Amino acid sequence: MVSRRLIRTRKGYAEPGPPESCPAGHPLRGPRRVLVGTQQCARCADLGVGSHRSYTCQTCWRTIYDPAPTPECSFVAFDGRPVPTDDQ
Ligand SMILES: [Zn+2]
Ligand SMILES: [Zn+2]
Repeated sequence: MVSRRLIRTRKGYAEPGPPESCPAGHPLRGPRRVLVGTQQCARCADLGVGSHRSYTCQTCWRTIYDPAPTPECSFVAFDGRPVPTDDQ
């Protein structure tokens, strides 16, 4: 399994939360503001980095990836098909 980046908090370890706002400026921190997902990436899997976290703004449906995708990144669906990268 791939180990995720963990942040030490007073309550123990937690995953990093979503960014404060989407590229359009909508706040992402709060209930029903963001959809958190996982984007599989062939390149990052090869490098042992694992997958990208995806944060989709529920207001404008833009998606932010963490870590941000590099030009070499190659997103793939769970069934292995390539996924077009939605560059803003
Ligand atoms: Zn937004
Ligand atoms: Zn990647």
